Amino acid sequence: MITTKSETTLLAGVIGNPINHSKSPLLHNFWLKNHAIKGYYVPVNVEPKNLSKAIEAFILLGFRGVNVTIPHKTTILSLVDTVTDRASVIGAANTLYFNSAGKVTADNTDGYGFIKNLTYFSDWKPDTGPAVVFGAGGAAKAVLHSLLAEGVSSVRLLNRTKIKAKMLAENFGNKVEVYDWYASDEALKGAALVVNTTSLGMRNQPELKPNLSNVMSNALITDLVYNPLETKFLESAKAQKLKTVDGLGMLIFQAEQGFTNWYGCKPEISDSLKNLLVQND
Ligand code: NAP
Repeated sequence: MITTKSETTLLAGVIGNPINHSKSPLLHNFWLKNHAIKGYYVPVNVEPKNLSKAIEAFILLGFRGVNVTIPHKTTILSLVDTVTDRASVIGAANTLYFNSAGKVTADNTDGYGFIKNLTYFSDWKPDTGPAVVFGAGGAAKAVLHSLLAEGVSSVRLLNRTKIKAKMLAENFGNKVEVYDWYASDEALKGAALVVNTTSLGMRNQPELKPNLSNVMSNALITDLVYNPLETKFLESAKAQKLKTVDGLGMLIFQAEQGFTNWYGCKPEISDSLKNLLVQND
Protein backbone atom coordinates (compact mmCIF):
# COMPACT_ATOMS: atom_id res chain seq x y z
CA MET A 1 0.00 0.00 0.00
CA ILE A 2 1.14 3.54 -0.64
CA THR A 3 0.42 5.50 2.49
CA THR A 4 3.43 7.37 3.84
CA LYS A 5 6.35 9.49 2.72
CA SER A 6 8.85 6.96 4.01
CA GLU A 7 8.03 4.48 1.26
CA THR A 8 10.09 4.69 -1.88
CA THR A 9 7.25 4.46 -4.38
CA LEU A 10 7.26 7.78 -6.26
CA LEU A 11 3.89 9.45 -6.62
CA ALA A 12 2.56 12.18 -8.88
CA GLY A 13 -0.70 12.83 -10.67
CA VAL A 14 -3.00 15.24 -12.43
CA ILE A 15 -5.85 17.24 -10.91
CA GLY A 16 -8.78 18.75 -12.77
CA ASN A 17 -12.55 18.86 -12.90
CA PRO A 18 -13.45 16.90 -15.00
CA ILE A 19 -10.35 14.75 -15.31
CA ASN A 20 -11.32 11.68 -17.34
CA HIS A 21 -10.30 13.26 -20.67
CA SER A 22 -6.69 13.80 -19.57
CA LYS A 23 -4.01 11.95 -21.52
CA SER A 24 -1.39 12.62 -18.85
CA PRO A 25 -1.92 9.31 -16.96
CA LEU A 26 -1.40 7.36 -20.20
CA LEU A 27 1.74 9.33 -20.96
CA HIS A 28 3.40 9.26 -17.52
CA ASN A 29 2.51 5.63 -16.78
CA PHE A 30 3.96 4.63 -20.17
CA TRP A 31 7.26 6.29 -19.18
CA LEU A 32 7.18 4.80 -15.65
CA LYS A 33 6.82 1.33 -17.14
CA ASN A 34 9.40 1.92 -19.88
CA HIS A 35 12.00 3.20 -17.42
CA ALA A 36 11.12 0.52 -14.82
CA ILE A 37 10.49 3.20 -12.18
CA LYS A 38 8.65 2.19 -9.02
CA GLY A 39 5.97 4.84 -9.08
CA TYR A 40 2.44 5.79 -10.00
CA TYR A 41 0.76 8.71 -11.74
CA VAL A 42 -2.90 9.09 -10.86
CA PRO A 43 -5.77 11.25 -12.18
CA VAL A 44 -7.74 12.90 -9.37
CA ASN A 45 -10.95 14.85 -9.77
CA VAL A 46 -10.70 17.93 -7.55
CA GLU A 47 -13.58 20.38 -7.29
CA PRO A 48 -12.57 24.07 -7.21
CA LYS A 49 -13.72 24.50 -3.59
CA ASN A 50 -11.40 21.66 -2.49
CA LEU A 51 -8.28 22.77 -4.36
CA SER A 52 -6.31 24.09 -1.40
CA LYS A 53 -7.13 21.10 0.84
CA ALA A 54 -6.33 18.69 -1.98
CA ILE A 55 -2.83 20.17 -2.39
CA GLU A 56 -2.24 19.82 1.37
CA ALA A 57 -3.41 16.21 1.19
CA PHE A 58 -1.08 15.39 -1.72
CA ILE A 59 1.85 16.82 0.23
CA LEU A 60 0.91 14.80 3.33
CA LEU A 61 0.70 11.65 1.24
CA GLY A 62 4.20 12.21 -0.07
CA PHE A 63 3.40 13.15 -3.68
CA ARG A 64 6.31 14.76 -5.56
CA GLY A 65 3.93 17.03 -7.42
CA VAL A 66 0.98 17.13 -9.78
CA ASN A 67 -0.09 18.43 -13.13
CA VAL A 68 -2.91 20.93 -13.04
CA THR A 69 -5.59 21.20 -15.68
CA ILE A 70 -8.93 22.95 -16.25
CA PRO A 71 -10.36 24.70 -14.20
CA HIS A 72 -7.44 25.10 -11.77
CA LYS A 73 -4.65 26.43 -14.01
CA THR A 74 -5.07 30.07 -12.99
CA THR A 75 -6.51 29.84 -9.47
CA ILE A 76 -3.66 27.61 -8.35
CA LEU A 77 -1.20 30.53 -8.66
CA SER A 78 -2.54 32.22 -5.51
CA LEU A 79 -2.28 29.02 -3.46
CA VAL A 80 1.41 28.16 -3.91
CA ASP A 81 4.67 29.36 -2.33
CA THR A 82 6.57 30.14 -5.55
CA VAL A 83 5.50 30.86 -9.11
CA THR A 84 8.13 30.57 -11.86
CA ASP A 85 8.64 33.59 -14.10
CA ARG A 86 7.14 31.88 -17.11
CA ALA A 87 4.02 30.74 -15.21
CA SER A 88 3.67 34.25 -13.87
CA VAL A 89 3.86 35.90 -17.32
CA ILE A 90 1.51 33.32 -18.83
CA GLY A 91 -0.83 33.68 -15.86
CA ALA A 92 -1.39 29.94 -15.54
CA ALA A 93 0.40 26.83 -14.26
CA ASN A 94 0.23 23.25 -15.47
CA THR A 95 2.86 21.65 -13.22
CA LEU A 96 3.41 21.74 -9.44
CA TYR A 97 6.53 20.60 -7.61
CA PHE A 98 6.41 19.80 -3.87
CA ASN A 99 9.76 19.97 -2.06
CA SER A 100 10.72 17.95 1.01
CA ALA A 101 9.66 20.82 3.30
CA GLY A 102 6.19 20.82 1.75
CA LYS A 103 6.71 24.02 -0.22
CA VAL A 104 4.95 24.25 -3.58
CA THR A 105 6.31 25.70 -6.83
CA ALA A 106 3.98 26.32 -9.76
CA ASP A 107 5.42 26.17 -13.27
CA ASN A 108 4.13 26.30 -16.83
CA THR A 109 5.80 23.90 -19.26
CA ASP A 110 3.51 24.42 -22.27
CA GLY A 111 5.88 26.89 -23.95
CA TYR A 112 8.83 24.58 -23.32
CA GLY A 113 6.85 21.72 -24.89
CA PHE A 114 5.90 23.88 -27.86
CA ILE A 115 9.49 24.96 -28.64
CA LYS A 116 11.01 21.53 -28.00
CA ASN A 117 8.49 19.98 -30.41
CA LEU A 118 9.64 22.38 -33.14
CA THR A 119 13.36 21.95 -32.54
CA TYR A 120 13.14 18.16 -32.11
CA PHE A 121 11.13 17.53 -35.26
CA SER A 122 12.45 20.28 -37.55
CA ASP A 123 15.44 22.53 -38.22
CA TRP A 124 13.48 25.68 -37.28
CA LYS A 125 15.56 28.43 -35.68
CA PRO A 126 14.12 31.48 -33.88
CA ASP A 127 16.16 33.91 -36.00
CA THR A 128 14.80 32.64 -39.34
CA GLY A 129 12.14 35.37 -39.47
CA PRO A 130 8.73 36.54 -38.23
CA ALA A 131 6.20 34.17 -36.70
CA VAL A 132 2.46 34.26 -37.34
CA VAL A 133 0.19 33.00 -34.56
CA PHE A 134 -3.49 32.25 -35.09
CA GLY A 135 -5.51 32.36 -31.85
CA ALA A 136 -5.42 34.27 -28.58
CA GLY A 137 -6.69 31.73 -26.05
CA GLY A 138 -4.89 30.00 -23.18
CA ALA A 139 -2.46 28.07 -25.38
CA ALA A 140 -1.52 31.18 -27.38
CA LYS A 141 -0.20 32.87 -24.23
CA ALA A 142 2.36 30.13 -23.67
CA VAL A 143 3.26 30.07 -27.37
CA LEU A 144 3.84 33.86 -27.52
CA HIS A 145 5.89 33.84 -24.34
CA SER A 146 8.09 30.99 -25.51
CA LEU A 147 8.64 32.41 -29.02
CA LEU A 148 9.79 35.76 -27.62
CA ALA A 149 11.89 34.09 -24.92
CA GLU A 150 13.63 32.08 -27.67
CA GLY A 151 14.48 35.32 -29.47
CA VAL A 152 11.93 35.50 -32.29
CA SER A 153 12.12 39.12 -33.45
CA SER A 154 8.45 39.69 -34.23
CA VAL A 155 5.12 37.92 -33.92
CA ARG A 156 2.02 38.71 -35.96
CA LEU A 157 -1.08 37.78 -34.00
CA LEU A 158 -4.56 37.12 -35.42
CA ASN A 159 -7.68 36.15 -33.55
CA ARG A 160 -11.33 35.95 -34.57
CA THR A 161 -12.14 38.18 -31.59
CA LYS A 162 -9.62 40.95 -32.20
CA ILE A 163 -9.93 42.57 -28.77
CA LYS A 164 -8.65 39.36 -27.17
CA ALA A 165 -5.60 39.46 -29.41
CA LYS A 166 -5.00 43.10 -28.46
CA MET A 167 -5.29 42.33 -24.76
CA LEU A 168 -2.91 39.41 -25.09
CA ALA A 169 -0.39 41.41 -27.12
CA GLU A 170 -0.29 44.09 -24.42
CA ASN A 171 1.55 41.64 -22.16
CA PHE A 172 4.40 41.28 -24.63
CA GLY A 173 5.40 44.77 -25.76
CA ASN A 174 5.94 45.97 -29.30
CA LYS A 175 7.29 42.70 -30.68
CA VAL A 176 3.73 41.43 -31.05
CA GLU A 177 1.64 43.10 -33.75
CA VAL A 178 -2.09 42.41 -34.00
CA TYR A 179 -3.60 41.86 -37.46
CA ASP A 180 -7.22 41.65 -38.43
CA TRP A 181 -8.50 38.04 -38.65
CA TYR A 182 -9.36 38.65 -42.33
CA ALA A 183 -5.91 40.13 -43.10
CA SER A 184 -4.09 36.84 -42.90
CA ASP A 185 -2.65 37.19 -46.44
CA GLU A 186 -0.84 40.33 -45.33
CA ALA A 187 0.28 38.80 -42.02
CA LEU A 188 1.64 35.67 -43.70
CA LYS A 189 3.89 37.53 -46.18
CA GLY A 190 7.48 36.42 -45.53
CA ALA A 191 6.58 34.41 -42.40
CA ALA A 192 9.15 31.90 -41.19
CA LEU A 193 6.83 30.13 -38.77
CA VAL A 194 3.04 29.78 -38.80
CA VAL A 195 1.28 28.43 -35.71
CA ASN A 196 -2.34 27.41 -35.23
CA THR A 197 -3.27 27.77 -31.56
CA THR A 198 -7.02 27.93 -32.26
CA SER A 199 -9.31 24.95 -31.91
CA LEU A 200 -10.03 25.13 -35.68
CA GLY A 201 -9.14 21.83 -37.32
CA MET A 202 -10.08 19.68 -34.33
CA ARG A 203 -12.43 16.80 -35.10
CA ASN A 204 -15.98 18.15 -35.70
CA GLN A 205 -14.72 21.76 -35.91
CA PRO A 206 -14.34 24.00 -38.99
CA GLU A 207 -10.89 24.11 -40.60
CA LEU A 208 -8.22 26.81 -40.55
CA LYS A 209 -7.49 27.54 -44.21
CA PRO A 210 -5.10 30.49 -44.66
CA ASN A 211 -3.38 31.13 -47.96
CA LEU A 212 0.22 30.00 -47.38
CA SER A 213 1.57 30.90 -50.79
CA ASN A 214 3.56 33.95 -49.59
CA VAL A 215 5.37 32.49 -46.57
CA MET A 216 9.14 31.90 -46.79
CA SER A 217 10.01 28.85 -48.88
CA ASN A 218 11.66 27.24 -45.83
CA ALA A 219 8.86 28.22 -43.44
CA LEU A 220 7.66 25.80 -40.79
CA ILE A 221 3.92 25.29 -40.34
CA THR A 222 2.76 23.86 -37.02
CA ASP A 223 -0.54 23.05 -35.36
CA LEU A 224 -1.29 22.66 -31.66
CA VAL A 225 -4.28 20.50 -32.58
CA TYR A 226 -3.34 16.80 -32.44
CA ASN A 227 -6.76 15.24 -33.00
CA PRO A 228 -6.60 14.61 -35.93
CA LEU A 229 -2.81 14.40 -36.08
CA GLU A 230 -2.75 15.75 -39.62
CA THR A 231 -5.18 18.67 -39.80
CA LYS A 232 -6.27 20.14 -43.14
CA PHE A 233 -4.04 23.12 -42.26
CA LEU A 234 -0.96 20.86 -42.12
CA GLU A 235 -2.16 18.83 -45.09
CA SER A 236 -2.36 21.91 -47.31
CA ALA A 237 1.07 23.11 -46.09
CA LYS A 238 2.54 19.73 -47.02
CA ALA A 239 0.88 19.91 -50.43
CA GLN A 240 2.81 23.18 -50.97
CA LYS A 241 6.05 21.44 -49.96
CA LEU A 242 6.30 23.36 -46.70
CA LYS A 243 7.74 21.78 -43.55
CA THR A 244 5.20 20.78 -40.90
CA VAL A 245 5.17 19.65 -37.26
CA ASP A 246 2.01 18.26 -35.63
CA GLY A 247 0.78 19.02 -32.10
CA LEU A 248 1.31 15.67 -30.42
CA GLY A 249 4.96 16.32 -29.64
CA MET A 250 4.02 19.45 -27.69
CA LEU A 251 1.69 17.37 -25.52
CA ILE A 252 4.51 14.92 -24.85
CA PHE A 253 7.30 17.45 -24.29
CA GLN A 254 5.23 19.63 -21.91
CA ALA A 255 5.17 16.54 -19.65
CA GLU A 256 8.94 15.93 -19.81
CA GLN A 257 10.08 18.42 -17.15
CA GLY A 258 7.46 17.34 -14.60
CA PHE A 259 8.35 13.69 -15.08
CA THR A 260 12.10 14.38 -14.78
CA ASN A 261 11.64 16.35 -11.56
CA TRP A 262 9.21 13.92 -9.88
CA TYR A 263 10.73 10.61 -10.91
CA GLY A 264 14.40 11.56 -11.37
CA CYS A 265 14.70 10.32 -14.96
CA LYS A 266 14.50 12.16 -18.29
CA PRO A 267 11.97 10.33 -20.45
CA GLU A 268 12.24 9.69 -24.18
CA ILE A 269 9.78 10.44 -26.95
CA SER A 270 9.11 7.38 -29.10
CA ASP A 271 6.85 6.23 -31.93
CA SER A 272 5.19 3.70 -29.62
CA LEU A 273 4.28 6.50 -27.21
CA LYS A 274 2.89 8.62 -30.06
CA ASN A 275 0.90 5.63 -31.35
CA LEU A 276 -0.49 4.94 -27.88
CA LEU A 277 -1.68 8.52 -27.52
CA VAL A 278 -3.22 8.61 -31.00
CA GLN A 279 -4.95 5.23 -30.55
CA ASN A 280 -6.51 6.35 -27.29
CA ASP A 281 -8.08 9.46 -28.71
P1 NAP B 1 -9.11 28.44 -25.78
O1 NAP B 1 -8.46 29.19 -24.69
O2 NAP B 1 -10.54 28.03 -25.66
O3 NAP B 1 -8.92 29.29 -27.14
C1 NAP B 1 -9.58 28.90 -28.33
C2 NAP B 1 -9.07 29.73 -29.50
O4 NAP B 1 -9.65 29.21 -30.70
C3 NAP B 1 -9.45 31.20 -29.41
O5 NAP B 1 -8.43 31.97 -30.00
C4 NAP B 1 -10.74 31.25 -30.27
O6 NAP B 1 -11.00 32.51 -30.82
C5 NAP B 1 -10.35 30.29 -31.36
N1 NAP B 1 -11.55 29.76 -32.06
C6 NAP B 1 -12.42 28.85 -31.59
N2 NAP B 1 -13.40 28.63 -32.52
C7 NAP B 1 -13.12 29.42 -33.59
C8 NAP B 1 -13.73 29.65 -34.84
N3 NAP B 1 -14.85 29.00 -35.22
N4 NAP B 1 -13.15 30.52 -35.71
C9 NAP B 1 -12.01 31.17 -35.36
N5 NAP B 1 -11.38 31.00 -34.17
C10 NAP B 1 -11.92 30.14 -33.30
O7 NAP B 1 -8.35 27.07 -26.08
P2 NAP B 1 -6.78 26.75 -25.83
O8 NAP B 1 -6.63 26.13 -24.50
O9 NAP B 1 -5.98 27.92 -26.21
O10 NAP B 1 -6.57 25.54 -26.90
C11 NAP B 1 -6.64 25.79 -28.29
C12 NAP B 1 -6.27 24.54 -29.08
O11 NAP B 1 -4.92 24.17 -28.76
C13 NAP B 1 -7.13 23.32 -28.76
O12 NAP B 1 -7.34 22.62 -29.95
C14 NAP B 1 -6.26 22.51 -27.82
O13 NAP B 1 -6.53 21.10 -27.89
C15 NAP B 1 -4.87 22.80 -28.40
N6 NAP B 1 -3.79 22.63 -27.42
C16 NAP B 1 -2.85 21.69 -27.69
C17 NAP B 1 -1.80 21.53 -26.82
C18 NAP B 1 -0.76 20.50 -27.14
O14 NAP B 1 -0.05 20.07 -26.23
N7 NAP B 1 -0.60 20.13 -28.39
C19 NAP B 1 -1.70 22.32 -25.66
C20 NAP B 1 -2.70 23.26 -25.41
C21 NAP B 1 -3.76 23.41 -26.31
P3 NAP B 1 -11.98 33.55 -30.07
O15 NAP B 1 -11.13 34.24 -29.05
O16 NAP B 1 -12.47 34.43 -31.13
O17 NAP B 1 -13.07 32.73 -29.43
